[in-house]
Amino acid sequence: MTGEPHHHTACWECGGVGALDGRHPAESMKAIEELTGLRPDPSGAPLIFGRCAECVG
Ligand SMILES: [Zn+2]
Repeated sequence: MTGEPHHHTACWECGGVGALDGRHPAESMKAIEELTGLRPDPSGAPLIFGRCAECVG
């Protein structure tokens, strides 16, 4: 483990899990918090749910 923030995405449709290595989704996380009230855990590995590009079409 490098200790770097490590975020993952999970697709509802296919269950695929991806990693967001190399990107810092801070803005996305903030948007999630604003939209849903859910506060992503900054110390862990937040899991962002949605539909992956393949499932979206
Ligand atoms: Zn998918």
